[in-house]
Amino acid sequence: MIAFDNSYARLPERFFRPVEPCPVAAPRLIRFNASLADELGLDLGAFDDDALARLFSGNALPEGAAPVAMAYAGHQFGNFVPQLGDGRAILLGEVLDRHGIRRDIQLKGAGETPFSRQGDGRAALGPVLREYIVSEAMHALGIPTTRALAAVLTGEPVYRETALPGAILTRVAASHVRIGTFQYFAVRGDIDGLRALAGHVIARHYPELADLQDPYLALFRAVAACQAALVARWMSIGFIHGVMNTDNMTVSGETIDFGPCAFLDEYDPRKVFSSIDQRGRYAYANQPGIAQWNLARFAETLLPLMGGREDENVEAANEALAEFGRVFQARWLEAFREKLGLTGEADDDLPLVNDFLALMHRGEADFTLTFRALAKLAGGAPDAPLLAHFSDAEGVTNWLSRWRARLSADLRPAADRQAAMEAVNPAVIPRNHHIEAVISAGLAGDFKPFEQMLKATSKPYVERPEFAAFMEPPKPEERVARTFC
Ligand code: AMP
Ligand code: MG
Ligand code: MG
Repeated sequence: MIAFDNSYARLPERFFRPVEPCPVAAPRLIRFNASLADELGLDLGAFDDDALARLFSGNALPEGAAPVAMAYAGHQFGNFVPQLGDGRAILLGEVLDRHGIRRDIQLKGAGETPFSRQGDGRAALGPVLREYIVSEAMHALGIPTTRALAAVLTGEPVYRETALPGAILTRVAASHVRIGTFQYFAVRGDIDGLRALAGHVIARHYPELADLQDPYLALFRAVAACQAALVARWMSIGFIHGVMNTDNMTVSGETIDFGPCAFLDEYDPRKVFSSIDQRGRYAYANQPGIAQWNLARFAETLLPLMGGREDENVEAANEALAEFGRVFQARWLEAFREKLGLTGEADDDLPLVNDFLALMHRGEADFTLTFRALAKLAGGAPDAPLLAHFSDAEGVTNWLSRWRARLSADLRPAADRQAAMEAVNPAVIPRNHHIEAVISAGLAGDFKPFEQMLKATSKPYVERPEFAAFMEPPKPEERVARTFC
């Protein structure tokens, strides 16, 4: 039993296309996220694996579902496409979770929709496993994200470069409204549609703005603040989204679309993994600037709704965009202060952080393990294990003296400082080479490594000896050069 309440499907007809999932040959459950189902208040206790597989493949449509493909547009790598839409995703409906929060339940890979264009509406097993692992890992890391409720095999091949097993991911999101959803109505000059969409988003995500004088400017500022906080969190754990198109940026502030995403091993601000990002538009260090660019596109869609004269609206939007830069910088510095164990604020904190990052870059230091080692130093461990992460450690000892001088005003016991640093510097991230290994095993029909990796990444801030392998950076022959979506 799922108690659906489908507010998006009650919006005007042009917001979506009704479409039913296309049944698959032989649905087989890979994994069901029972704890998320519980959080959502889904009553699926009577469902065995086969019944769950039928449900999460779309073969058995649950009562109360109102399946639709959502309409949206978007800038893909800077080029505007006026109509994208859910080409392989079908929104089953919404539920109110145990906290009263409205959540979307969506099948990804459930067959063709009116927005499929040349695509087959399907998903291959590899990307489904990657999205499952990374989105759940992001959640465990404490970063706003869509979630994974289930993964099933379809029993049908999908054809990419080769034939691959087909799979379907059930995704849960605070909503699937993207910047591209606003662009869809803006490019059509559909002001009524824009107003209805903004009203839906405000009611759903920002109800405190509803009664303001100019709720649309306030909406913009609220989304910008959420995105500033989100991207700062990404940066703090070395996450590279990989495809920050405007249709892959939510207005809720959740991370969405885990296509060619990847985590840094050694620190390199210019790092790009995505095979489709030839020019490095979405490199690690470009992410805040791209978020701001995307938000500028969002602001443009809201201008016609704003109350003032056109020039006043533009000025207000520009000021709000500049505010994004300041908020991001503040959130970023906050996050990196915590990573270094710095309490309070000192004038030289920014150069202290940046100098450490520069040393890590030059010394090809592993982003995750180096911060984790620094936490141990804060607890009184010797320097050597930290220095061992640098291929070139010149200057690191010098930097450590500056860092220790900065810490000397902090009266916390060393063990408390270490614990605080370990609470923000993960030991386990879903590393690319481990994901690749999980996918290879899955393609051979073995999902034990997938289960094991989900366990390993579920408590990222704790070092557990049984999952030590998942803390290891890649050996030279294991390095992943490119990720694919
Ligand atoms: P993405 O790169 O995942 O953000 O997707 C960009 C657009 O391509 C969206 O409109 C998707 O719905 C569509 N798309 C991606 N893969 C497929 C597919 N296999 N079949 C149909 N549409 C797809
Ligand atoms: Mg997408
Ligand atoms: Mg995608």
